Amino acid sequence: MLDIKFIRSEPDIVRADLIKRNDQEKLAWVDELLETDRKVRELKVEIDQLRQRRNTISRDINAERKAGHDTSALLEEAKSLPDKIKELDSVKNDAEEKVRYYLMRLPNILDETVPVGIDESGNVEIRQVGAKRDFAFPIKNHGQLAVEKGWADFERAARASGAGFSYLKGSLALLDMALQRYAIDLLVNKGFTPVIPPYMMNRTSYEGVTDLSDFEDVMYKIEDSDSYLIATSEHPICAMYQNEIFEEKTLPLKLAGLSPCFRKEIGSHGIDTKGLFRVHQFHKVEQFVFCKPDDSPRLHEELLANAEELYTNLGLPYHVVLICTGDIGTVAAKKYDIEVWMPREEAYREVVSCSNCTSYQAVRLGMRMRDPDDFETKYHIHTLNSTEVATSRTIRAILENYQYEDGSVEIPEVLRPYMNDREFL
Ligand code: AMP
Repeated sequence: MLDIKFIRSEPDIVRADLIKRNDQEKLAWVDELLETDRKVRELKVEIDQLRQRRNTISRDINAERKAGHDTSALLEEAKSLPDKIKELDSVKNDAEEKVRYYLMRLPNILDETVPVGIDESGNVEIRQVGAKRDFAFPIKNHGQLAVEKGWADFERAARASGAGFSYLKGSLALLDMALQRYAIDLLVNKGFTPVIPPYMMNRTSYEGVTDLSDFEDVMYKIEDSDSYLIATSEHPICAMYQNEIFEEKTLPLKLAGLSPCFRKEIGSHGIDTKGLFRVHQFHKVEQFVFCKPDDSPRLHEELLANAEELYTNLGLPYHVVLICTGDIGTVAAKKYDIEVWMPREEAYREVVSCSNCTSYQAVRLGMRMRDPDDFETKYHIHTLNSTEVATSRTIRAILENYQYEDGSVEIPEVLRPYMNDREFL
């Protein structure tokens, strides 16, 4: 959420950003928001004055009475004050609700380096890393191979839970765990603290961390409760410090979330996406950082480097993409994706998304830091998040990139210590 003080002082920056995003609807909101905000502030003053009058009027009535004057007008005024205050309070509450509606939906201010584009076709490739292997045989689809080898069962999962789920078995169950543990070890060695968060979260906290449209499109609501299954550990980790004040010396705070992720979206069913690419449940190790505002651009590059290190060490070719204005969404000010080479499809597909959310989540969740030089001054911190590894898509990439003609699959060297030093799945 943008800080209302920022919108009041820099409305032109907010407007220019919405023009870059080509968002005419929200552009029209800016004037309406400022006008409603002005009305709220005027009403507050008026209500305060009426409350003060209510507190002093009985004294005036007594004084007039003692002086032998007629008090009927004052008595009439005193009688009308509670209703007047109530009426203005209700108008103010409605206006405040309207301000909140707009504030919760206006997107973050974009970093100036974000390329302008209408949709993902406007994303810009930054670099390609790793050599693509030449395959002298037709590569088997990852889902089909996993079923043939007895490493995954989609049919029984569909019967037990529905489409978009799997039973991972034997080697693939171990590979899933190896990826998570390797990612955690890599981050712990860089000073991250591993965190296993709650897998459910209430709506108020959720509103603080994400785009509201996600509720309907992405998240599973728990019946008869105010809770949702988490779509990523980014969300409960971000909400962990809501309404808290950080001391400068505790920042940057680097956490490595580890959790299953539950998502409603299921998407298309092409041969290459069938299987493990887009599923309702997968595991993810997520980097999350709380930091001082001027430190977030540097840390954004650091999170990207940590994720690139993992995919380089796994020996999977990838490219890094800078996401454009039409594809970046509401929360991030700047976002990179890493897309891994899927040789069967002959395409790069997204495996990591790495965002600098600047103060957007911190304003919504009331997370601030104390100015080290002035105890009374506090300002909003910045938050960043990035996938370190999402298991199911990475398993697909390994099953394709490390496949041999006889259907065997080599285990990337860095994962072997987590798989009893085996060389093949
Ligand atoms: P997000 O939290 O939406 O930015 O996604 C982070 C990463 O999680 C993506 O880059 C994918 O690797 C993975 N991911 C997201 N959605 C799915 C899904 N439905 N099935 C499998 N992996 C997913």
